[in-house]
Amino acid sequence: MAAPWRDVVRDAAAVREAAAAAVDAALLAGVLMRTGEQPHASDVVNYAPFTLLPSAVPRALFEQAYAVQQDFNLLVDAISQNKEFLEQTLASTIKVDDFTARLFRIYVQVLEEGLAQTVFLGINRSDYMFDCGLDGTAALRQIEINTIAASFGGLTSRTADVHGLVLKVLGKAEEASHLLPNNPAKGLALGIAKAWELYGSQRAVVMFLVEEIQRNIFDQRCVENELWSRNIRVIRRRFRDVFEQGSLDASRRLYMDGQEVAVVYYREGYVPQNYDQQNWEARLLLERSRAVKCPDIATQLAGTKKVQQELSRPGTLEKLLPGRPEAVARMRATFAGLYSLDEGEEGDRIAATAIADPDRFVLKPQREGGGNNLYGEELRQVLEKIKDSPERTSYILMDKIKPQPALNYLLRAHSPLQVSECISELGIFGVYVRQGQQLVLNQAAGHLLRTKAIEHADGGVAAGVAVLDTPYLV
Ligand code: ADP
Ligand code: MG
Repeated sequence: MAAPWRDVVRDAAAVREAAAAAVDAALLAGVLMRTGEQPHASDVVNYAPFTLLPSAVPRALFEQAYAVQQDFNLLVDAISQNKEFLEQTLASTIKVDDFTARLFRIYVQVLEEGLAQTVFLGINRSDYMFDCGLDGTAALRQIEINTIAASFGGLTSRTADVHGLVLKVLGKAEEASHLLPNNPAKGLALGIAKAWELYGSQRAVVMFLVEEIQRNIFDQRCVENELWSRNIRVIRRRFRDVFEQGSLDASRRLYMDGQEVAVVYYREGYVPQNYDQQNWEARLLLERSRAVKCPDIATQLAGTKKVQQELSRPGTLEKLLPGRPEAVARMRATFAGLYSLDEGEEGDRIAATAIADPDRFVLKPQREGGGNNLYGEELRQVLEKIKDSPERTSYILMDKIKPQPALNYLLRAHSPLQVSECISELGIFGVYVRQGQQLVLNQAAGHLLRTKAIEHADGGVAAGVAVLDTPYLV
């Protein structure tokens, strides 16, 4: 991939001056996070980690990722309404993975009762890396689709300005003028506002369901404040608050301390650590309610790694989206090799291949949030240990994507300024709203570029590995 900043990246004095300006610009622009020491209050904050330089992204792949986003929105929405597909796909997984099994039980329970919810809101983020072929050309490869709590749409709405200033400090005003505007916060809020409007009660509020520890609160506030500017009331509550104060009326309208809730936007609830017994009960209450859940539990299940792996089987996309061959082709063109480890010959064969050549693969459990995948020697050891046990089915295998690294500086509070070899991951936000059977909104809502040093195989921004970036199209 082109390296547009070759002339400045090793110029120590220029880099130091630009980095100082960059940090102050980030603070001024609100690219903020609470600190690890004081995660519960905003008295002390710092800048969220980001790259000094915007990273090169091939224009054609960037456009390809945008062009396929509405297809992925349609697909996720279709999966969420297909009980047979979810049941069949997750049957082996829920036997061995307790977290997925508990989500699935709630899913079945709310379907048996009958859904009270009639308006559906999806906010997802489809993530990609640029796989570098032997001939040096890059291809867009999907890493995953996040269907719950996809974050950083807020903070990333502010990074392009910071990178624009950095380029000007470095004498590159012309290049700065080519950085694209990007405002996922606005796009996400548009979807939430549409769902709120269709729910149809002026008095009702939007509830952000948030974690106990909220270091990334400013990212959420960006979306929240867009809603306030549309005169939509927003409240922030934890599962524990829902357990203590949430209730349903006879028509299953959701009330939180007396206020009716139109939309529940989850920024919580995607990993087992988010749940104790009370939180599971709170989740069930929310799912049973008439409120628009973003996502509802079916859509959360549609985002599992196991579902992703099944989507790559020949014929699956066609069955899920009949009569849409162009959409199917666009999506399939972004898939990397994905393999089932279910019991049987197919699983035995790929397990043996991965044990023999672990560097070709990534081993993934049904977890979100980064830091869970296994690579290389560790992958080999774990697979060797579980290859003859049912535990194997709680994982999937994926071809390892190998992007071309580029030099950059990762700016983190209290860290020395040093050049790193980096790779990037592009995310496209998708938003859609469905009322009954009718799709009333389906859009790509902006992008997120995250960059990390190559020595880290795994992990996102919240996990402390990747940092925020801005694409510079080449
Ligand atoms: P999570 O749900 O934990 O975010 P991901 O599938 O996104 O799981 O994987 C986490 C990180 O691991 C990604 O952000 C990426 O850096 C790396 N990763 C995941 N899949 C691959 C792959 N197939 N090839 C190379 N790196 C990968
Ligand atoms: Mg991810």
